[in-house]
Amino acid sequence: MNLWYEWRDAPPADYAVLGDPVSHSRSPAMHGAAYRRLSLDLRYIAIRVPEDEFCLALDRLATLGYRGVNCTVPLKGAAFAWSGSDRPDRSINTLRLDSSEGTNTDAPGFLDTLADRAVPVGRALVLGAGGTARTLLHALHQAGWDLATWNRTPSRLRDALNGLALRADILEEPDPEGCSLILNCTSAGLHGEAPPVQWRRAHPDALAYDTLYGETPFVEDAKRHGLDAIDGKAMLVAQGARSFEWWLGVPAPREVMWQAIQ
Ligand code: NDP
Repeated sequence: MNLWYEWRDAPPADYAVLGDPVSHSRSPAMHGAAYRRLSLDLRYIAIRVPEDEFCLALDRLATLGYRGVNCTVPLKGAAFAWSGSDRPDRSINTLRLDSSEGTNTDAPGFLDTLADRAVPVGRALVLGAGGTARTLLHALHQAGWDLATWNRTPSRLRDALNGLALRADILEEPDPEGCSLILNCTSAGLHGEAPPVQWRRAHPDALAYDTLYGETPFVEDAKRHGLDAIDGKAMLVAQGARSFEWWLGVPAPREVMWQAIQ
């Protein structure tokens, strides 16, 4: 477990990741390593903020001199409301506290990871209908992908797609036939589970991509069926690097950030 603070006890610092829980976050290690590499006299810490205390916490952190925060589960919707953004996915993960501006670096960070692997635009099967699924469906749609979608609770997926105003096939079963990307945006792995992907119908060259990091059941299932599979570490670094650059205006040392979370 990493060092973290309750928001009422948080010491002065420059940047922070806010979440509930937040003890698992690797963002302080990642940003701290980047500051050290670039000799920046900055401090980034992890702070637990319950969702219904989000605005109070931001007021306190601004008073303490914080310049910006990352927001993780379950605070991205609250950050969206606080920033007054009009993003269709209604999800913000990066805020500037002086100007109240917000952005979402999960989306471009995720697309960076596809570009790094030279994944060509094609058809994707996207699993899930929560905040991450909405953000990545929007990003893939903007990038020209054809979309197939599945969620355990179909009504939630229909609502998500209506809110995003994009066209996607809604599948009754997570059938990856014809897809070059199988993207897991569910949190099933947090409970040691995996969505019931029909792996035998996947193309052998398809990439299985879990947004969760670690040896997740989804990644293990995909590998067992002979597919190339990655977890969410590369996305974590890519979104962190994008946040770093949005705040500081200098290129982020991505390799150092990657090493810091291994
Ligand atoms: P939400 O709570 O908003 O959504 C959770 C989704 O997972 C829902 O679609 C839910 O389905 C589904 N789900 C949960 N349990 C199961 C299960 N056992 N079987 C099938 N489906 C299930 O979560 P988020 O969208 O905020 O986050 C999703 C994941 O993305 C998390 O694991 C998070 O760690 C990861 N993430 C990774 C990032 C990175 O940088 N690598 C960045 C952001 C997120 P239902 O609607 O039926 O409840």
